[in-house]
Amino acid sequence: MSDMLNEPRPHIVVLGAGFGGLTFCQKFHHPKARVTVVDRANHHLFQPLLYQVATAGLSAPEIAQPIRSILADKPTVTVLMDEVETLDLAKRRVTLSRQVLEYDYLVLALGGRTSYFGHPEWAEFAPGLKSLDDALNIRRDVLLAFERTETEPDPAAVLRLMTIVVVGGGPTGVEMAGALAELTRVVLKRDFRRIDPSTARVVLIEASTDVLSHMAPDLAANASEQLRQLGVQVRTSTRVKSITQSRVELDNGEVIEAENILWAASVAASPLTQQLGVELDRAGRVKVSPDLSLPGRSEVFAVGDMVSYLQENGKPVPGVSPAAMQQASHVARIIEDELSSAHQSRLPRAAFRYFDKGTMATIGRSAAVAQIGPMKLTGFAAWVAWLVVHLLFLVGFRNKAAVLLQWTYSYFTYKRGARIITPTESPPKA
Ligand SMILES: Cc1cc2nc3c(=O)[nH]c(=O)nc-3n(C[C@H](O)[C@H](O)[C@H](O)COP(=O)(O)OP(=O)(O)OC[C@H]3O[C@@H](n4cnc5c(N)ncnc54)[C@H](O)[C@@H]3O)c2cc1C
Repeated sequence: MSDMLNEPRPHIVVLGAGFGGLTFCQKFHHPKARVTVVDRANHHLFQPLLYQVATAGLSAPEIAQPIRSILADKPTVTVLMDEVETLDLAKRRVTLSRQVLEYDYLVLALGGRTSYFGHPEWAEFAPGLKSLDDALNIRRDVLLAFERTETEPDPAAVLRLMTIVVVGGGPTGVEMAGALAELTRVVLKRDFRRIDPSTARVVLIEASTDVLSHMAPDLAANASEQLRQLGVQVRTSTRVKSITQSRVELDNGEVIEAENILWAASVAASPLTQQLGVELDRAGRVKVSPDLSLPGRSEVFAVGDMVSYLQENGKPVPGVSPAAMQQASHVARIIEDELSSAHQSRLPRAAFRYFDKGTMATIGRSAAVAQIGPMKLTGFAAWVAWLVVHLLFLVGFRNKAAVLLQWTYSYFTYKRGARIITPTESPPKA
């Protein structure tokens, strides 16, 4: 273990190096303090582009960066790749799988996980999209289904193999469904001889009356229309009743046989929030104080997807990356001010205020919707806005350049570069 971990300087422990934890490490600066950031992964992941890895548009290294390398120019920050196991707030102690850390301040930025509305048994048959492994597994299963269809004599099996169901019509579900429809109709269509991948069914199931229900109704309706034009079967006001191996049963009694069922319907906070002894919302998110500290624990803060925070207008701060980054910056300022002050605990702390920069979702080539303040964009204009924003926020120049190159290549050739699956990666489904 590094000597730095045992120095007497104030120690700030940051758990998680996603958007919240990484932003804290980048923004926080105080000559008296040292920071230790812990993540189970060795990389920071740009989750907004995960669906492109799952649908063979980008490869994994293009949307991830080693945390160490991002923070290499921060000599007061130590990066530990380890699993957070328990939190003892009374003793100011965090237990990792290989060591124990003590802190003066703790910043919790552990994000969320896929949740299945109380049906954890569905996870086996309908994977969610949260990590690089999830994306690579989905990509493998989808591509493998087409490889198997090419040699499948049974028409019923062909129908099942060529059906993909996406559950959940939020931004992730819409982006996945659109990208899968394009993959089958534009990219794979030209590569097979015995089957026609463009006849594949992509079904998007959404319980509410429209997809993208967080957006203005006209934009949501436009997104549905753009999806339909791409060939996605959009089923709104439809709930899933059960999911088993390659089989989805809907509340209207319909059964869809689908080789690939993908879950994009709901997320919950990290299970570690249950150890905190504070009030949680239904998704397990921490109900933080206005300054983002835990009630009764002024030295412990939580940011990002694991937080439940109501804005002044009564609406919750959404679980998006700008919210996690803004919250992390807010906490960094509070801790810097307190370390600089001789009367740390007496400093009044500012309440966090979320600045909504807008929301957007891409549906396919030249197809997207965006809402930026009063401005609403659809189609090509929204798609260009989406490309620019995602390129700007992607971490690292090399990744920006690689992604721009891939997108340009795909735009002009109608091909996707990340379609290699290896035999060891591809065991047939049971
Ligand atoms: C598929 C997908 C698409 C999305 N698209 C968009 C989008 O287009 N625009 C947008 O703004 N937002 C989008 N989001 C949401 C956005 O990614 C999140 O709001 C953001 O990542 C939240 O940041 P965070 O720091 O709270 O959590 P995360 O970024 O999830 O980071 C949490 C970190 O904690 C680590 N961790 C968790 N548990 C442990 C443990 N026990 N031990 C050690 N480390 C641990 C994880 O490895 C991870 O690095 C998307 C999310 C997903 C999943």
